[in-house]
Amino acid sequence: MKAIHLQAVGPDVSLELLDELAAGLARTFQVSCHVRDTPLDAAFAFDPIRRQHYSTAILQQLIPLAGEETRLLGVTGLDLFVPVLTFVFGEAQLAGPCAVVSLHRLREEFYGLPARAEVLALRLLKESLHELGHTFGLRHCRDWSCVMASTHAVERLDVKNAAFCPACRKGITG
Ligand SMILES: [Zn+2]
Ligand SMILES: [Zn+2]
Repeated sequence: MKAIHLQAVGPDVSLELLDELAAGLARTFQVSCHVRDTPLDAAFAFDPIRRQHYSTAILQQLIPLAGEETRLLGVTGLDLFVPVLTFVFGEAQLAGPCAVVSLHRLREEFYGLPARAEVLALRLLKESLHELGHTFGLRHCRDWSCVMASTHAVERLDVKNAAFCPACRKGITG
């Protein structure tokens, strides 16, 4: 992999947040991380019954947009789902170039709490590392502190490290 590109999906994704995420990802993966400047419209992925966006459809839309030897990570403020789950924080292609993460349930406001920018940025970094880990073929890790541990609640996300355990680390550096 030569680079990671970040792509806003839908409205309300702040450039400041993407720039901060890019810096964090560049540090961990030791590659350049570029923020694309035009948001992708996601209206096509809206499910009017669930009032959420279908993450697999967004992923399919991202695939042709990923370049050679580039990982493309979509970041959205929209609430994502897959049919079998109430919601997902994100979805990735296993050993493929694309992933998408949602800010929606990472925000303290979603849980009725005051907004905390640093909490949101750290959760976004962890969720992004997790989904990008899947694009390297990593599966869920049994080490609860590893970023590849499976998480379905922000409380669990908060106790993970924003880092890969030594075994998972091997999977991304080869
Ligand atoms: Zn996962
Ligand atoms: Zn691990």
